[in-house]
Amino acid sequence: MANRPPSRHARFPVPGGNELRCKGWRQEALLRLLENVLSVGEDPDNLVVYAALGKAARNWAAHDAIVRTLKTLEEDETLVIQSGKPIGVLRTHRQAPLVIMANCNIVGQWAKAEIFYALEKKGLICWGGLTAGAWQYIGSQGVIQGTYEIFMRIAEQSFGGDLRGRFILTAGLGGMGGAQPLAGRMANAAILAVEVDPERAEKRRSIGYVDHVTGDLDEALAMIETARAAYEPISVALVGNAADIYPEIERRGIVPDIVTDQTAAHDLVYGYVPSGFTLDEVRELRNADPGRLMAASRDSIIRHVRAMLAFQSKGSVVFDNGNLIRTHAKNGGVENAFDIPIFTEAYLRPLFARAIGPFRWMALSGDPDDIRMIDDYVLESFPDNRIVSNWIRLARENVPFEGLPARIAWLGHGARTQVALAVNRMVADGRLKGPVAFSRDHLDAGAMAHPNIMTENMRDGSDAIADWPLLDAMALCSSMADLVAVHSGGGGYAGYMTSAGVTLVADGTAAAADRLSSALDNDTSLGIMRYADAGYEDALDEAEEKGIRHIRL
Ligand code: NAD
Repeated sequence: MANRPPSRHARFPVPGGNELRCKGWRQEALLRLLENVLSVGEDPDNLVVYAALGKAARNWAAHDAIVRTLKTLEEDETLVIQSGKPIGVLRTHRQAPLVIMANCNIVGQWAKAEIFYALEKKGLICWGGLTAGAWQYIGSQGVIQGTYEIFMRIAEQSFGGDLRGRFILTAGLGGMGGAQPLAGRMANAAILAVEVDPERAEKRRSIGYVDHVTGDLDEALAMIETARAAYEPISVALVGNAADIYPEIERRGIVPDIVTDQTAAHDLVYGYVPSGFTLDEVRELRNADPGRLMAASRDSIIRHVRAMLAFQSKGSVVFDNGNLIRTHAKNGGVENAFDIPIFTEAYLRPLFARAIGPFRWMALSGDPDDIRMIDDYVLESFPDNRIVSNWIRLARENVPFEGLPARIAWLGHGARTQVALAVNRMVADGRLKGPVAFSRDHLDAGAMAHPNIMTENMRDGSDAIADWPLLDAMALCSSMADLVAVHSGGGGYAGYMTSAGVTLVADGTAAAADRLSSALDNDTSLGIMRYADAGYEDALDEAEEKGIRHIRL
C-alpha cells in the first residue's frame, strides 16, 4: 500500500494490506502486531522493543516458531507462550483466547535483578516490558498522551492552565522517553531533554519528535531561554549525561519550572548510563563487570536525584515518571528521594479510579486513512469529553504515525466498548480498509500492581497486592479476549511489579462484537472495582453511575 508509513528498519517492514497469511484475521492480526513491535522497536535485530531489555520474543528461534504457529493456528486453538517462547498449542474453543502468555513471572524471594540476569543468560526467561512481549507497543506515540496529560495537569495545578513560557527539564530519549519533547512542545512549553546517546537523539529528530539536537549546554540553554522569553514552544535534545547536566544547571542557579526524568534508570546494568563512561565502555562492562556498572550507575543516580531534589527545594515542580530512579537513589542512601511524587498518584489517579486510561487502536490495513476515519467518529461521538477531543485534534496535527497507523486516547468504561463496536461495524460495511486491533497499556486501572509507580500510596495500603492483575487476566480469558498476557518485571524491575495485557481484534464479525463488548466492559469494570475496593469515591460513584456490580462489605 503506497501510503503505509515507512519502517525505521529496512529488515523489519511495517505489515499491512489485505492478504492473509494465517487461517483467519484474528491470527493474522496478532502476527501483524508482532511484526509491528519490531518495525517500530529500538533494537529489533536483538528483538528489543524498548526499555533496554523489553523483548518481543525470547530469541530468534522462538520468534520464528511463534510466526510459524500463528500461520497454522485454527480458531479453536490457543497458543501458549512462556517468557517469549512458544510452548505448545491447546485445543480450546472458538471463544477462547488465541494466545495466552506469561512473561517473566519469578517467585517472590527469587524476583531479583541478579537472578533475572542469570536466568536470562541461561536462555530460560525474557522480560516482555509491558507492551513489548505482548506485541502491543505502537512506538513513542503510545506514551505521548500520558506524558502530555501529566504536563497539562501540572499546568492546571501550578501554572494557570498554560505552559507557555515555562521550562521543562527532562532526560532520556528512548522508546518511551522519546515522546517527551513532542508532548512538551504540544503543551506549549520549552522542553530540554538530556540524552547520552547521540544516535537516540538524532533518531527522535529524524521522526519529528524533537526540534533541535546539540551537544553544547550553553547553546541548548540559550535556545530554551529565547523561546521561553518569547512564549514560543520549543524542544531541544542535549547530548550529555543527565547525572552531569542536572547538577550543572542547578549550580548555575537556573530553576526549571518542571523537572522529571525518563532515562532507563530502572536497570542499573542494561539501562542507565553512569557518568564518566563511554557507551562502548558500558557495553563492555555489562558482561565483564556488571557489579562495577551497577555501583557506578547507583552513584550517578544519587547525584541525578539530589539535583532533582535541589530543584524541588527551589520551587520546581518535580515528579518521577515511572523509572524507579527514586528507588535506586533511596537504596543508595538518599533518604528523602521519595519527597519527589510519582506521576500516577500526583496527576492521574482520579482518572484511573474511573478506569479512564490509555486505550489504543491499530489499523491492520496499514492505511492511515482508517485511523483518520476513527478519529472523526471519536470527535463526533464525544464532543463533551475535553480530554479526548483536545487530544485527537492535537495528535492529528502533531503526532507522526510510526509503524501500523495507530491512535491512543484516554477512554473509560463504556466509551471503550462504544468505539470498538462502532469500528467493528465500520470494518463490516467496508468503510475501513481492514480490521482494527484494540489494546490498552498495562498501566491501567485494574491491570497493574507496582508499588513504586501505579499503586504507590493507595488509600487502603494495598500497594503491593498483585491479585488484581491476575484477576484481570483471568477475567479477560473468561471474556473471550484474543490475547491475554500476565507480565512481571525483569532486569531492574524484577520483584517490583505484575501486570496484565489484552488485545482484541475487530474483524467486522458478530463474534468479534461479542468479544469486544465482553472483554472491554469486564476489563474496565474490574478496574473500577479495584479502586472502589480501595475506598476511592470517584470509583464508587462510577460503579453506581455505570451499574457496575461492585460488592461493598
Ligand atoms: P530506553 O531504554 O528505550 O531508553 C532510555 C534512554 O535513556 C536511552 O536512550 C539511554 O541512552 C538514555 N540514558 C540512559 N542513561 C542516561 C543518562 N545517565 N543520561 C542521559 N540519558 C541516559 O527506555 P524507555 O523505553 O524510553 O523507558 C525509559 C524509562 O521509562 C524506563 O525506566 C521505563 O520503564 C519507564 N517507562 C515509564 C512509563 C510511564 O508510563 N511513565 C512508560 C514506559 C516506560
